[in-house]
Amino acid sequence: MYQNLLSLSLSAGNLEALYLCGMEEYFKNENIVQGLEYLHLAAQGFYDNGIYLYGIIMLSRGNPTIGIPMLDSLNWRANKARSDGWWQNIKTSIQGVVVKRFDVYITTYKATRATIACHRNDMRRCEACYYFKQMKKFIFIM
Ligand SMILES: [Zn+2]
Repeated sequence: MYQNLLSLSLSAGNLEALYLCGMEEYFKNENIVQGLEYLHLAAQGFYDNGIYLYGIIMLSRGNPTIGIPMLDSLNWRANKARSDGWWQNIKTSIQGVVVKRFDVYITTYKATRATIACHRNDMRRCEACYYFKQMKKFIFIM
């Protein structure tokens, strides 16, 4: 029953369903390709949680050329609290799911950390360290 509803919503292009299915595939089933495809579709439909999550995953997988414009499209410079709200929503959605910390995240995290010279010991965020700090929250689910 639930599966049927889900596939109906998917074929109708329901963005929240795409986003939730994307999370399920990516995090729970570790079906990376399918999960990213759903999340990308949700992001393309301007579903904010989807844009944020897809952007952060792309950043963490070492694809800043995709991840940075995604986060920028959410206009974080004007309002960081709003983007933090999307992160809270995502954290709520993945509660209870064992989120795997892929090796690529750690590789990307270390390589990026080496380029950050500001705000090393606190969570303040400026133009130079914003993406790194957001990625850190995702990788270590903070
Ligand atoms: Zn900074």
